Amino acid sequence: MTTEYWNPLLETLEPERLRALQFNKMKRVVDWVYAKSPLYRRKFDAAGFKPGDLKKWEDIQLVPLLTKDDYRCQGKDPFPYGDTLCVPLDDVTVFHQTSGTTGTPVYQPDTWADWEWWSECWATILWAQDFRPSDRVFLPFGYNIFVAYWAGHYACEKIGCEVVPGGVLGTTERLMKMRELKTTAFMATPTYVLGMAETVRSELKADPLEWGIKKILCAGEPGALIPSTKKRMEEAWGCPVRDHVGATEVGAWSFECTHRPGGLHVIESMFLVELLELESDKLITAPGVPGRIVITSFDRQAQPCVRFDTKDVSAWSEKSCECGRTWKVLDAGVHGRVDHITKVKGVLFSPVTVEEVVRSFPEFQGEFEIVVEKDGDLDKIRLRLEMPPEITGEARKELNKRLLSSLRWKTQLNFELESMDFGSLPRYALKAKRFHDKRKEGVK
Ligand SMILES: [Zn+2]
Repeated sequence: MTTEYWNPLLETLEPERLRALQFNKMKRVVDWVYAKSPLYRRKFDAAGFKPGDLKKWEDIQLVPLLTKDDYRCQGKDPFPYGDTLCVPLDDVTVFHQTSGTTGTPVYQPDTWADWEWWSECWATILWAQDFRPSDRVFLPFGYNIFVAYWAGHYACEKIGCEVVPGGVLGTTERLMKMRELKTTAFMATPTYVLGMAETVRSELKADPLEWGIKKILCAGEPGALIPSTKKRMEEAWGCPVRDHVGATEVGAWSFECTHRPGGLHVIESMFLVELLELESDKLITAPGVPGRIVITSFDRQAQPCVRFDTKDVSAWSEKSCECGRTWKVLDAGVHGRVDHITKVKGVLFSPVTVEEVVRSFPEFQGEFEIVVEKDGDLDKIRLRLEMPPEITGEARKELNKRLLSSLRWKTQLNFELESMDFGSLPRYALKAKRFHDKRKEGVK
């Protein structure tokens, strides 16, 4: 018998029982890291916090926050995880690392039990997005040191899908294999989903609709919850495209369900997600208020994160979802990163807004970059955009005018437009890096 839920009991648990489960798991993981990891012991001691201080729900706020900087203690014995490791080194069965786009890469160990936990998280996500044993799922993913879709692969097997590892094949060969095998689903970043559609048209002289794809799972970038990007992907492939957000240090903690709550369900049986004010550590409970996402992974052994400050920004939704899950929803998913939400010419600016505008113009099928730099004392913001080769002369001028006006309306900023040749900007298979704030040192 199939149901809508992977785990009907946990996914529909009434809120009081869910809180009780979370609190017990929180106590267990706080005890665990304090006993096993010199890093956590140091941090807790420095803050004057003892695991025994955790007596009621509100006390969770007393547990010190973990930041990316805390992982700098890695690279020492037990090598290479150092003071973050909570199990004997011999118990570690797999290594992954973060991409290091926001600093030094973090080394992430997992035990075999952790790996089963990863698969369980992903099984929950896949099932909620209508992946079923009848699906043949293609993974156009490089199978490397980044965790990305590794757990998605094993979870596909766990729920009974047939999985096709795309491995080292190039984009064109991947697409040919997908067509040959009549695959029904795939997973990729929004940038790659669009890039694959572009390759179908330019290299294979075909229409992506001919591939017969029934569902696409996106991860790694916010695009699948940006309405114009979502629409463009869905129109290209002729099927629903749904979002998932996870992180190497945290696990696979959220998903968009088939009922489309317009945001992400938190897997609350396995994670505690808190939102803290952008400029302080005060807890946000009201819907609609943007805050930093702080996550605890309850059930991981080798290197769990307790109150990890992801520096990603989101807000709680005030609506519950009609799918019947009692798990809370983050409105519109992840809005961006604290360090990307910045002031330009004194106006609060989030790069995600630019993507929303650019993707709402069907004429612009290519890539773009945003560059913020200083011109004397003034901020200057520039959009480097690949131009459609078939639109020229007056028509192109008119199109650019409409784009700039739309950007001004959405961001209250005057952009300078730099026309780029189609195909001249980098294509990213994993995380796209489109925002360049040259005012900050060390940022390209
Ligand atoms: Zn739902």
